[in-house]
Amino acid sequence: MSPGPFLHPFAKPASERFIPITRGEGALVWDADGRRYVDALASLWYCQVGHGRAEIADAVSAQMRVLESYHSFDIFTNEPAERFTAEIADIAPMGEARVFLTSSGSEAVDSALKLVRQTMTQRGTPERHIILARTLAYHGVTYGGLTAQGLPLNQTGWGPLLPGVERIAHDDLEHVAHAFAQHGSEVAAVIAEPVIGAGGVHPPAPGYLRGLRDLCDRHDALLIFDEVICGFGRLGAWWGADRYGVVPDLVTFAKGASSGYLPLGGVVVGPKVREALEADPDFLLRHGHTYSGHPSCCAAGLANLEILRRERLAERALPIGERLGGGLRQLLDEGTVTAVRGDHAIWAVDLPDGVDAAVVRDGMLERGVIIRPIGATTIALCPPLVIEDADLDLCVEALDAAVREVTADRARPTAD
Ligand code: PLP
Repeated sequence: MSPGPFLHPFAKPASERFIPITRGEGALVWDADGRRYVDALASLWYCQVGHGRAEIADAVSAQMRVLESYHSFDIFTNEPAERFTAEIADIAPMGEARVFLTSSGSEAVDSALKLVRQTMTQRGTPERHIILARTLAYHGVTYGGLTAQGLPLNQTGWGPLLPGVERIAHDDLEHVAHAFAQHGSEVAAVIAEPVIGAGGVHPPAPGYLRGLRDLCDRHDALLIFDEVICGFGRLGAWWGADRYGVVPDLVTFAKGASSGYLPLGGVVVGPKVREALEADPDFLLRHGHTYSGHPSCCAAGLANLEILRRERLAERALPIGERLGGGLRQLLDEGTVTAVRGDHAIWAVDLPDGVDAAVVRDGMLERGVIIRPIGATTIALCPPLVIEDADLDLCVEALDAAVREVTADRARPTAD
């Protein structure tokens, strides 16, 4: 048998084993054999409002029946895109915001990187082109985000990456200060996830994000928060920026913006970027995607925002964290896992030496829980904000049992 035509993302191209997911409801999904799973990673860190929301489907369907899509380049616009960007600007962590739209987080990150460089060009300081980006960061897979991310395995084999990106330590402000001392007059921006997500769930060290803000201010650089995972209630507020009380100049978002019902992302830009871009009335922003401002995707985004608001789902993130984090810490006390990290509704554990994360993933699948292994040693959990307590408990029980199964197998004497 040879692999099928679908060349899967972040998968082994030679692989033939896939699990068809056929249905979802709330924090649960079912496979083609009717097996039920707790979706403990909210699909891929995005399904904030849970699966099966008919009102989002209805909003998209209604929009599609009137106008499925029309581009928004140059002189054209559409009501869902205008309304969605107005709502995002309204909840933005910075005042006087405007919103550029994309279809994904990677496009959002690349757009943000281009926007900060264009800002510097419009200000008359084009030599400011360097982006400082953190170790362990994940910023997507297009060349800008790929270069900015701090996960070397993902960067291997793709040829030359983007020039002008320098690495800073994700947890060491002194190292960032050193980078500014070296490149200060050439730095356009620092990019940072408030909580590092796909790189293993690392909440910021106390004062780190504030320190980035201060360094950017001192050196006239811009601060980008990549909130593709952190935004839309994941950390108990609209943004990680709100959670940690630090105001960035740009925010990238995607995922929870539509809870994944349709592809939707974007970049929120604050006054510093706006001033530079709006100063010359003849300046033309030569950047945009065919689907920037796609009306049906924006209709999904609007319906998603409505649910987040009406059901106050951001307020669910803290109790989720208390229950899930509490359960995981119990496993730490018992020695089942070796580290627990997280904040509100995003968590990870490290596994003991020799316990492979992919094997634990399979063991948890057998017990009806989907998590994501990160590297060989880390398990991430980031459930829909509608998850029930019993399903959170099942996540912890399944993790416990899956790890114990591996360690018991290792301890068993061999037959000969
Ligand atoms: N930025 C962050 C912080 C992410 O977590 C991700 C995806 O996980 C991206 C960017 C890229 O988003 P996408 O996969 O939608 O391109």
